[in-house]
Amino acid sequence: MTNLFIFNTDFRIRDNPALFYAAENGESLVAMFIHNPKKWESHNESDLKIAFQIDNLKNISRKFAELNISLKVIHAEGIEEENKKIIEFIKNNNINEVFINKEYGINEINRDQNLEKELVSLNKKLNSFDSSIFLPESIKTQSDTFFKVFTPFSKAFRSKLLVNKLEVLGLPKKQKKKTQESDQVENISLKAERKKILDLYRVGEEYALDKLDEFIDQKIFMYKEKRDFPAIGGTSSLSPYLSSGVISSRQCLFEVFKKLSEEEEGVKTWVNEIIWREFYKYILFHNPRVSKNLSFSEKYDDFPWSENQDHFIAWSNGETGVPIIDAAMKQLNLTGWMHNRLRMIVAMYLSKNLLIDWRKGEKYFMQNLIDGDFASNNGGWQWSASTGVDAAPYFRIFNPITQSEKFDKKGDFIKKWIPEISSVKNIHDPSPDERNDLGYSNHLVDLKESRKKAIEAFSNFSK
Ligand SMILES: Cc1cc2nc3c(=O)[nH]c(=O)nc-3n(C[C@H](O)[C@H](O)[C@H](O)COP(=O)(O)OP(=O)(O)OC[C@H]3O[C@@H](n4cnc5c(N)ncnc54)[C@H](O)[C@@H]3O)c2cc1C
Repeated sequence: MTNLFIFNTDFRIRDNPALFYAAENGESLVAMFIHNPKKWESHNESDLKIAFQIDNLKNISRKFAELNISLKVIHAEGIEEENKKIIEFIKNNNINEVFINKEYGINEINRDQNLEKELVSLNKKLNSFDSSIFLPESIKTQSDTFFKVFTPFSKAFRSKLLVNKLEVLGLPKKQKKKTQESDQVENISLKAERKKILDLYRVGEEYALDKLDEFIDQKIFMYKEKRDFPAIGGTSSLSPYLSSGVISSRQCLFEVFKKLSEEEEGVKTWVNEIIWREFYKYILFHNPRVSKNLSFSEKYDDFPWSENQDHFIAWSNGETGVPIIDAAMKQLNLTGWMHNRLRMIVAMYLSKNLLIDWRKGEKYFMQNLIDGDFASNNGGWQWSASTGVDAAPYFRIFNPITQSEKFDKKGDFIKKWIPEISSVKNIHDPSPDERNDLGYSNHLVDLKESRKKAIEAFSNFSK
């Protein structure tokens, strides 16, 4: 009896429900990876993230060899072709049951429902498992609707944590026999500078679990105080691993609560961030508009965004003349990652001061981040643009210079990424002469005026 496990965004062996139960319930197991560049491109997945996933898969394939699990790589042209290729494989290889961890985007939900129907017609079963800690259907308001605000959602989430003991699954069972030779996973071709970025990130769930452990033993205690300062490594840096499923949110909470309690402020604050991650997945699941490239809030469907392409290019290249924004964009472009405080600042500047459609920023982030995660990225962008669920009120626009003075007081972060302006008197906002002398950009837009313009534009749409 051979079962089939299909990889989604779950590049780990431990605490992988679909893999675990596929191994438990059969004699032999094939794990399938679908090589689908057309789908990756249409979802704006960055080459960096895909290459990172493939490197993690290579790590997994070594473990699979010890567990007698075969790894098969099939190729599909777009998400629409995936089921056809899966069914072909099942027919040719005498597969018994299929196991997957669910994804919550609308295309993925449709794909899996169609797969289930096709399997039923072949008298076979699809076993699907949730990839969130709790079933998205299981968290409801007292009036039996779904939450649209984070704080009550997190309260409901925490009460479920109290009654449902968190458990994580271990390694999948070693299979009696290996029915097929494993395929080699091909490298994704990366330009030299992207390859250099990829080298910054170590692969493997063992490494990710060690990193989690280290964070829980040390940095978590100062997380609340240090998490907003980009020059200090005060956060866990686990997002590349969480976004590709190299570790799970459940493993994070399980490991935290094994040692610590939420009485510790740092723990409480960090757990809250993991709950934000779960919240955005929940929002994606319950609101198909989010998958359809639409604002969560319908009233912004016809918002008059600016089409100024020069402004967008200046923003993406880190040439806005606002040092904290330019430094943040350089961090993204050169490392594939950006600190959370800076993600909020650059997203708000693009969608408010420049009045550029948040979807352009969302896409740019996805195409460049190593931790691009559709739900969290969309949620973060719509929060900043005030078009989203539980978003920042449109009139509360960050002043990037004030943010810079508060969160990068001495300018250490700015100096790291824009060393050429290190000598200026006011690192947060160099004088016109200093800009001229050092060849640093002038302000793309006047911050006060553009703020006023944004508030007017939004207030017209919020009546
Ligand atoms: C505009 C914008 C875009 C974003 N895009 C992404 C994205 O594509 N992928 C992504 O994983 N996160 C995204 N975030 C959330 C957040 O910025 C990153 O998760 C965080 O910076 C990752 O660093 P860390 O692992 O050190 O986080 P920590 O502070 O250590 O937090 C631990 C984990 O909690 C989760 N988390 C933390 N903050 C948030 C948040 N605000 N929303 C959702 N989950 C959170 C992440 O999985 C993170 O790894 C975005 C935020 C904004 C404002």
